[in-house]
This record gives sequence, structure tokens and C-alpha cells, in this order.
Amino acid sequence: MGYEETLRNMSLEQLTAVIEALQKSSDSYFYIMDLDTYTYITTEKMVKRFPFDDIMSTDLTPLFSGLVYPSDFPKLQADIRRCATGEQDRHEMEYRWFDRDHRIVWIECRGTVIPGSDGHRLLFGRVTELGKEAKADNITGLRRETRFQYDAEEILRDMPETINYMMRIGIDNFKEINEKEGIEAGDGVLRELADCIMATVDSKVDVYRLMADEFMIMDADPQSEADARDIYNEIRSRVANTVREKEYSCFYTISAGVMQEGFENKSADSILRLTEFALNEAKRNGKNQMAMFDKEAYDGYLKRLDIRKLMRRDINSNFKGFEVFYQPIVQTPDYRIIGAEALLRWSCEKYGSVSPAVFIPILEESGLIIPVGKYVLWQAAHICKKWREIIPDFHINVNLSYVQVHKSDLLDDVDRCVREVGIPPESLVLELTESGYIETDSRIKELFQHLKERKYDVALDDFGTGYSNMRYLQEIEATTVKIDRSFVMKALQNAHDYNIITHIIDMVHSLGSSVCMEGIEKEDELDKMMKTHPDMIQGYYFGKPSPAEQFEEQFLHITDPH
Ligand code: C2E
Ligand code: MG
Ligand code: MG
Repeated sequence: MGYEETLRNMSLEQLTAVIEALQKSSDSYFYIMDLDTYTYITTEKMVKRFPFDDIMSTDLTPLFSGLVYPSDFPKLQADIRRCATGEQDRHEMEYRWFDRDHRIVWIECRGTVIPGSDGHRLLFGRVTELGKEAKADNITGLRRETRFQYDAEEILRDMPETINYMMRIGIDNFKEINEKEGIEAGDGVLRELADCIMATVDSKVDVYRLMADEFMIMDADPQSEADARDIYNEIRSRVANTVREKEYSCFYTISAGVMQEGFENKSADSILRLTEFALNEAKRNGKNQMAMFDKEAYDGYLKRLDIRKLMRRDINSNFKGFEVFYQPIVQTPDYRIIGAEALLRWSCEKYGSVSPAVFIPILEESGLIIPVGKYVLWQAAHICKKWREIIPDFHINVNLSYVQVHKSDLLDDVDRCVREVGIPPESLVLELTESGYIETDSRIKELFQHLKERKYDVALDDFGTGYSNMRYLQEIEATTVKIDRSFVMKALQNAHDYNIITHIIDMVHSLGSSVCMEGIEKEDELDKMMKTHPDMIQGYYFGKPSPAEQFEEQFLHITDPH
């Protein structure tokens, strides 16, 4: 006699006794369900843990409404129906139940349909709590990212309007903890943080551990009125307390990126991306804080990524789309042209001509400024050689970025360039922006030193915009100090700044350097600023940046024979 037949011949009492006996030796819960009458039998243990009325009942409705997580219900119903109609003989599902304390419990349910003696179809099965198995993260006991994707996907599809917030939390200095205190200390911190989160959020809120040091909180409880900022603040203060209690054995802070709206038509993957962006914003803003997802900032970020991609493509197509423009620099008081600043331009089909204020930082962040900077240097050096045939003391100014200084063999590149092109080093003026780096980074001072030893002229650019400090002016002994247009504008508007500029110029002169004043656009501006005695002027009044051919026609009177 096969086991199916034996089972078929057993009474309900006998079956109850069998599953009770099995239950004693297992962590899973056993049940039998008559799919025609929807009568079920289960065990004492199951009734104790989950909200079943009794070990046997004939009415499933109240049970399912209190037991099964609402959004999982339609799927379960459909699967059971297929078992009842004979469409399938196996029931296999992972979904959520509520336990007797109304906490969400992930379960796996597996069952087999066996035809009963009276022609009824009986589902024999077992339920396993997934939390007890290794599918959860074994450091924190939380579910992992794949689980988040699965859960979020469903909620986003079925009831995005119930989502109160999604919060991605990250530890600000986790890498450092692992490196300095060891992996075990790092694991301890993860466990502590998970506890702080779980102690803060409501039991109906789902918490997941993502990769490395990141956690995701999904509050999709329709009744929830929790405010994301309050939740973050509470977790943060719990963390601070734990750190204090443990006598700072591991010091850490947390940041968070939060989404509170716009869940419609989003995938779980995009939620992961968007909250990651918000978390990174929080870290960029100085860590130990929460940032709300900002669509405009995100669109800007995507645009910068796109521009970076397009520039990379153009660099690989022989710098297509890039061009160097030249703006005249005149000497005072006769306004004779003695040089030009090389200014990079980039345009593409999609965005047209993009401002250097936008694309230079992107080139710097990505390191692409290294090949592009070389391109500018070589273009400028060739033009300088050509133009020196007309104006023998012509100088070309080239902007350098600190990324080039730190991450490339800048000195060797510049040496090779002037040697191979065949111009004297003093015809090249290398411009470096003033910044806090100059004071703190000894390499910058060294670079200035080396450049001057090799007879290059060095200009300190953008003077008056930030860290202007007379002491380092003295230390670096720049050949030229370029006073930024914004500072000149201020001086044109008020007497106080005008006096400051006058004094600065005197001081620069006393240090043996010369002054180039930037951004003069009109005659009256020129007249007024000339009284401060700059040595050179660069501004729209004398000429805007233009392509080499146009510069030649306008200022050097070279006309193209074609
Ligand atoms: P910068 O080096 O201070 O260049 C001077 C900027 O002032 C140029 O802007 C120029 O067009 C503008 N300018 C000059 N005279 C006037 C004027 O009379 N009125 C007004 N409104 N503006 C004037 P541009 O070309 O947009 O360049 C902006 C910045 O981008 C440059 O500031 C420089 O820091 C950076 N940059 C440009 N080309 C390069 C490059 O090849 N390498 C690097 N690393 N940076 C570059
Ligand atoms: Mg410059
Ligand atoms: Mg400048």
C-alpha cells in the first residue's frame, strides 16, 4: 500500500496525531488543509506562535485576515486556488505572516496535494520561519538586499501610496573602524546599529541590511505617522548613547538618505539608487546628518555623469568637441598686446557649448583633466611659437589644475612640451588658482619653486576670491598675481574694496611680482582701475576669448590666404 493510500484511509483524528508527533522533532510547523471545504488541521505549537483560532477550524477568512500580510494575500489566494482546482499539486511560497504580537515574520510554506478518500484534495505541508535560517544576514539577523528588492517591488507595484518613507542609513567611518579596530569590532558596530534601528522603529516597519555598512528602513504601514526626521534623530541619539556607554571603544556616527514621496512607477532598484544618492549628499554635506532626496540635485548629478561620458568619448576621438580659445592680455600703460590666456572650450550636440565652470570640475573629478590639460598645453605652446614670430616677447598663459599637479608628471610634461615645440620656458605662464592648498600642501610650494628654477613664469590666479593671504604671496613669489574679476567688480562699486585693491597692488609690487587685472569690460572701468597701477589688463574691453584664427585676424593681422 502506498503512503498516499494510507493517508487517504486515516481519519482526521489520526492525521492530527501524526502531525503532532512530527511536530515534536521539528522547528517547522505542520498542517493539513482540505482544499474542498477549507478545513485545516495544524499543531499546538503553530497555534501558540501564530494567530490561529484552534488546531482545527473550518473557516479560513478571519484567520487569513489576521495572519497573512495584506499585500501577500492575493498571491497566496491564487496559488491555493490552483492547488484546489488541480492545476498544480505543489504549493511553494515565501511570504509574510504576522505572529501573535503582530510582528511580521517571513515564512516559507511548502506543501503537496494528495487526493483524499472522499475525493477531496488534501494539502499536506509545513511552514518554516525564514528568520531562523541563514537567509538573513548572520551578523545583524536582518534580511538582506535581495529580500528588500523582493518586498519593495511588491509594495511599489501594489500600494506605493502606503509608503511613508524609505531611509537608507550608512555609517560615516566604517572603513576606518574595520581597518583600525578590526573586523570583529566592525561587526559589533553593525549589530549595535541594527539594535538601535530596531529599538526605534515600529514593529510593522521593515529593516534590511544592505551591502557593507548600510541599512534600509521601509515604513509602508498605512497607519504609520512616524516622521522620518524624528526617526533618524532618535536612531542617531541611541547610537551616541551606545558609543558613550561603551566608553568610546568604537566611535562612529551615521548619515541617512530619505525618500518620502514619488514612489509611483519606481522599481526597487531605482529606490536603492535614489536613496544612495541622498545618503551620499548627506555625507558630502559633512556627515552625521540626514538628507532628503532632491530631484533637482539628482537630475544635475545625472547630467554631470552624462557630460563626463560624452567628454570621455570626445577625448578618445582625438579631442573632437574641445577647442582652445585665446584672450588677449595687454600691458600698461600703452595697452600693447604681450600675451594671451588659453581658455578651454567644449561643446557637443546634446548640450551645445558648455561653460568651463561646469565641465572643468567634471574633468577634475574624473582625472580627465590630465589628458585634456596636456592637450591645452601643446595647443597653446604651438600657437605661442607661431605668434612669437610676430610679437617676439609674446607669452601664453595656461591654466593648471591641482589634479594635474598631484596626479601626473606635470614638470616632465611641461619640459618636454617646450623642448619639442621649441619655445623658451619664459614664454609660458603657468596659472594656478589660489586656494587653501598652497598654505597646507608643501608639494605646491615645491612645485612653484621647481617651475621657477626651470624659468617658467608662474601666475597666481583668481586672487581675491577665497583664501587670499599675503603671507603665502610672499612665500610662493609668483611672477604675476591675477586679480579676479569679482574682486575688481567690488572695487568698482565701493571705496573700501577699491582701497584694499590699491594696497594689495602696492604690496605685490614690493614683493617683486606684477599684477594682471581681470574682467575690465568698459572704458570708465579701465580709467578708474588704471589709477591702482596694474601692470597688465585682461578683459572684454580689449578682447573676448576667441578661436586662434580670429585672434590672429583681430590682433596679429594675419589673414588666412584661403
Ligand atoms: P580664469 O582662469 O580666471 O579665466 C578667466 C575667465 O574670466 C574666463 O572665463 C574669461 O572668459 C573670463 N573673463 C575674462 N575677461 C572677462 C570680462 O571682461 N568679463 C567677464 N564677464 N568675464 C571675463 P572662462 O573662459 O569661462 O573660464 C572660466 C575658468 O575655467 C577659468 O577661469 C579657469 O579657472 C577655468 N579654465 C578654463 N580653461 C581651462 C583649462 O584649460 N584648464 C584648467 N585647469 N582650467 C581652465
Ligand atoms: Mg586663468
Ligand atoms: Mg582668473
